[in-house]
Amino acid sequence: MTDQFPLDNDRRASDAADPEHPMRGAGARRRFLLGTLIVNIAALSIDVAVLDPQHLALAAGLRLLVVMPLVLVALALNRRPADRPLQSAVQATAVVAFALSVTAIGQFAPEPFAGRYMMAALFVIFAGALVSALSWGATKIMTVTATVLYMLITVTGLRWPPAWTNIDLVGLCIVTCVIALRARERKDAQIAELEAIRRSDARLKRDLRRANAALERLSATDALTGVFNRRYLDELIEQETASIVPSLGQSVLMIDVDHFKLFNDHGGHAAGDRCLQQIVTAVRRNLRSCDVVVRYGGEEFAVVLPGLDQAELQETAERLCHAVKELKIAHPGLGEAEIVTISVGIAPAVPAETLADAIQRADQSLYRAKRGGRNRVSV
Ligand code: GH3
Ligand code: MG
Ligand code: MG
Repeated sequence: MTDQFPLDNDRRASDAADPEHPMRGAGARRRFLLGTLIVNIAALSIDVAVLDPQHLALAAGLRLLVVMPLVLVALALNRRPADRPLQSAVQATAVVAFALSVTAIGQFAPEPFAGRYMMAALFVIFAGALVSALSWGATKIMTVTATVLYMLITVTGLRWPPAWTNIDLVGLCIVTCVIALRARERKDAQIAELEAIRRSDARLKRDLRRANAALERLSATDALTGVFNRRYLDELIEQETASIVPSLGQSVLMIDVDHFKLFNDHGGHAAGDRCLQQIVTAVRRNLRSCDVVVRYGGEEFAVVLPGLDQAELQETAERLCHAVKELKIAHPGLGEAEIVTISVGIAPAVPAETLADAIQRADQSLYRAKRGGRNRVSV
C-alpha cells in the first residue's frame, strides 16, 4: 500500500510531483511568470499615483530594470528543458526580487499605501510558494529567502539605525511563509497520490487485458492435444457468417484415426490419449503456421488451410498420413506389426463457399476414405 499511496512520506510525495520534470510544469510556470510580468508593470500606475518623483524613479528602476528582465529571462529559459536548474534559479530570483521590490517601494510610500504595499508583497511570497510550479527544493529556498529579506526590510524600514516599525507584519510574514509551504507540500502529496492511483489503475487494466486474453486462449484450446477446440471452430464459422466480405473459400482436411476404438479397448484409454497427442504433434509439424488445427471431436480433427490449390492440398494430406505412419505407434487391437494410421478427407477451396459447407464436404471425403479401406486420402 505504501508504494501505491506515498502520502505518509511527504518528501517522496513532493519528489513524485516534482514540477522540475522536463515535461511537467512548463505551462504552469509560463502562466505564473506572465502573470508576474503583467502585475509588475501594471503596478507602475499605482506607483505613479502614490509616490513622489524621486521615489517613483527608484520604483520604476526596480520594476523595469530588475524584476522585468529577470522574469523575461526566466520565461525564455522556460522554453528549454535542458536549462531547467538555471530556469528554476532565475525564476526563484525573479519572484524574490518582485516581492522585495514591492516591500522596498512600500517603505517610501505614504500611509495608508505603505501598509498595502507590504501586504501585497506578502501575497506575492504566498502565491510564489503555492503556484510558481517550481520544485519543492527551489520553492523552499525561494520562500524562506524572500521571508527573511522581507523581515529585514520591514523591520529596518531601509534606514540605519533600524526604524523597528511594522513588527506585526514580521509575525504575519512568518505565519504566511509556514502556511504557504505546508499548503504547497500538501498539494504535491495530493498530486503524487493521484498519479499513484492513475498508475495502479493502468496496471490493473493491463493485467485484466492479459487475463482476458489468456482466458480466451484457454477457452479456445483443447486440453488434451493443445490444438483449437470445436468451440473455436464454431466461432470461426459464426464470424464468417457475420462478415460482409465475400469468402474466397477455404481448403479443409478432415482427419480421423483408424480403428481407434479397438486401440482403446486393447491398449487402454491412457495409451489412447498419448497416441492422440503424438499424432497431433506429427500433424502440426507438417503444417504451416497459418493452418488452423481443430479437434473436431474424439479422434477426429479438422484442418483449415488458406490459400492452397487442390494439388497442394492433396500433397499436404498425403504428407500427414505418411508422418503418422512414420510414428510407428503399435496398434494393440490389430495384431502383430500393425501400426496406427489415419484417414484424411479433403475439400479443396471453392470460392464463395462457407466454411461450414467445406467442412461438410471434407467429412464426406473422409467417409469415402474409410469406405475405401482406411489409411488413405480421399477427395
Ligand atoms: P474408424 O476407423 O471407423 O474411425 O473406427 P474408430 O474405432 O476409430 O471409430 P469409432 O467412432 O467407432 O471410435 C472412436 C473412438 O475414439 C471411441 C473412443 O473410445 C475413442 N476416443 C474418443 N475420444 C477419445 C479420447 O479423448 N481419448 C481416448 N483415449 N480415446 C478417445
Ligand atoms: Mg476413427
Ligand atoms: Mg471418428
